[in-house]
Amino acid sequence: MNISSATRVLALLGDPVAHSLSPEIQNAACVETGVDGVYVAVRCAKDDLEGFMRGLARAGGGGNVTLPHKEKAAAVVDLPSEAVRRTGACNTFWGDENGRVVGENTDVEGFRRALRIFVGGAPAGMRVLLLGAGGAARATLMALLEEDVDEVVLLNRTTERARAVARRIGGQKARVANMSIEVKGQSFDLVVNATRLGMRPGDPSPFELGLLSRVGGAIDLVYGKDPTPLLRSAAEFGVRAVDGGEMLVQQAAVAFERWWGMPAPLEAMREELRRRKGG
Ligand code: NAP
Repeated sequence: MNISSATRVLALLGDPVAHSLSPEIQNAACVETGVDGVYVAVRCAKDDLEGFMRGLARAGGGGNVTLPHKEKAAAVVDLPSEAVRRTGACNTFWGDENGRVVGENTDVEGFRRALRIFVGGAPAGMRVLLLGAGGAARATLMALLEEDVDEVVLLNRTTERARAVARRIGGQKARVANMSIEVKGQSFDLVVNATRLGMRPGDPSPFELGLLSRVGGAIDLVYGKDPTPLLRSAAEFGVRAVDGGEMLVQQAAVAFERWWGMPAPLEAMREELRRRKGG
């Protein structure tokens, strides 16, 4: 990587950022394609977010926003995409020719692409159990509805949050379950974990898959070096499952495409993720 005064600076803004693999994945993509950019992680307080975003965008750069600032970022950008407006969360930004900050939520398209790879085609008509009601769950729900699934049942620790997500994004196809017991004995084509459970060592599985009569497959948005609790539970019940690694790469690829106007080098990005995960 040859850094000069012409190099575009892209930054991940959040708190914390030390655990993120985005710098490694994006810099690997820059090296692979030969674009003149560098990607760094900046730990940033909420009050500093807007200044960083505007400064980077006006300087010809951009970046990503991660926890806990995605909602604030959605409120800061001048030109929010449809995905930012519907989810109320922004994870990618850059500047336009007039110095305005453009915002995108690449988790929506990232999940959609990872889902299609997992399913081996379009998931139209599926019945999905979606665990969680935070930013990732909102992006997942939007992608599922765009893919024309039949029904999404939302289940979250705080039921009122799930209701708010269903109202905001779900339309006629989202239903809220108050407790796990309400879906006991039911059949789902797909279970998606969009909670934080699995991020910390010792976390329990976000859902007891044995409660269901049938599960077609499971996607955990959480990823790590070891199989997540949901993946371990899926193995126990013979359910095909993947972690959030592919979604991480796909959402990064969509961001790369927006910044650089060219296809992202997916294989190089996957390879970097595998290397960092030690596999
Ligand atoms: P968030 O907005 O903070 O939401 C967290 C969600 O987890 C909420 O539904 C929360 O329930 C639930 N939760 C937290 N602790 C829990 C516990 N002890 N028991 C049960 N539920 C619990 O976070 P987010 O942005 O949606 O992210 C969620 C996960 O998705 C994170 O692990 C993140 O790393 C992952 N993610 C992955 C990708 C990817 O590319 N693979 C992209 C985005 C996010 P309450 O509402 O009850 O608090």
